[in-house]
Amino acid sequence: MVNEQLKIDISEICQKFDTQQIINFDKKQSFNRPLWADFGQKGMQGLCIPKQYGGNGLDIATSIFGLKEIGYQCQDNGLSFSVGAHLLAGVVPIWLYGTEEQRTKLLPDLCNGKTIIANAISEPQSGSDVFNMNTVATKEGEYYVINGQKTYCSNAPVADHIILYAMTNPAKGMFGGVSAFLLSRTKGHFTTTDPVDKMGLRSCLMSDVLIQNIKVSSDQLLGKEGGGAIIFNRAMTWERIGLSALHLGTLNRIFDNIIQWMNQRRSFGQSLSKYQALSHKIVDIKIEIDACQLLLTDAITQLEQNSKKLDLAASILKLKTSELYRKAAVDILQIAGANGYINNSYFERTARDAMASTLYSGSSEIQRNIIARKIGLK
Ligand SMILES: Cc1cc2nc3c(=O)[nH]c(=O)nc-3n(C[C@H](O)[C@H](O)[C@H](O)COP(=O)(O)OP(=O)(O)OC[C@H]3O[C@@H](n4cnc5c(N)ncnc54)[C@H](O)[C@@H]3O)c2cc1C
Repeated sequence: MVNEQLKIDISEICQKFDTQQIINFDKKQSFNRPLWADFGQKGMQGLCIPKQYGGNGLDIATSIFGLKEIGYQCQDNGLSFSVGAHLLAGVVPIWLYGTEEQRTKLLPDLCNGKTIIANAISEPQSGSDVFNMNTVATKEGEYYVINGQKTYCSNAPVADHIILYAMTNPAKGMFGGVSAFLLSRTKGHFTTTDPVDKMGLRSCLMSDVLIQNIKVSSDQLLGKEGGGAIIFNRAMTWERIGLSALHLGTLNRIFDNIIQWMNQRRSFGQSLSKYQALSHKIVDIKIEIDACQLLLTDAITQLEQNSKKLDLAASILKLKTSELYRKAAVDILQIAGANGYINNSYFERTARDAMASTLYSGSSEIQRNIIARKIGLK
């Protein structure tokens, strides 16, 4: 599967590391910085960002299909997740809501792979209930004094910058009370804890972010004071669509792999592909993949048109694709047999990597809650 529209060839860089090396990044839970830099050279971290800010200047559809291509070509699912999270919840919000100064200062290096940004909103006591936050930015004259702790932040251990969401006006709550800040490690705005040891996506490092009594001017605000919820919700819409594309790419890759395996592996004198119990399972996955592809195309259209149906389309796509990704990864592992189950086999790794897809960017339960509201249930 090569995305004709993308016209950026990433096949060579994706083959630079062999399977054993990718396994080692996963085992040691280390960030694949060389591949990150190679992706940066191709501008993959800035697919949809205009060329004037150092991006590739691609339209929305080509950019989203570009993420699908990364999911297909890059065996290191943690690294592709890192690229997706960085672009969709970090780079895109700066492009959409940043001042001209913030864009020109930050976007070029974020697009070319020199710097990395993390999205910091979850807190130890609030995940799904995301705006129930304890991180506070208190106005003192010209400055904000910020204190708080964020958790489960993807890319944080290697991040140069973060988008931090903090409460600036608790009385106003979610809309009007939450603001987004652009903070930099080199300015001493935040520190990070050691990476957490996690089940999957292990080469995408994750940690807490600590913000301790820092003093920043309003230049560090992203968007307007009180505009944080709108920025976050828009970032999540992009993430739900972009990460679904990434997952569909990965799913297509393991799907192609299992077909090869089924044609080649023999049992009771014939190939596995001859057994209807297995081939029907694969056909069912194929139908579901194609259905998700149609949902993806629809969500991209809604995003291009900034339509009223955008959030509904993004949630339906995210829910359906992530649940398929998880289930199909396990079904495919079953067909690969013990060879798929052994530690760090291709299929075992992807099954672990797929597990979190129904949690981040809003869990399946939260997507169902959003869909229920959007279809008129009060
Ligand atoms: C791999 C990974 C990457 C992540 N990256 C980031 C990141 O970069 N930045 C960041 O800030 N955060 C990140 N997160 C955190 C993620 O956003 C949260 O895990 C997610 O919001 C769920 O919150 P929680 O884990 O605290 O679960 P909880 O909110 O405690 O929920 C626990 C369970 O209860 C369910 N639940 C909760 N509320 C409801 C409800 N109202 N109705 C029905 N069911 C409900 C949930 O669906 C879940 O199944 C990441 C998480 C993972 C796993």
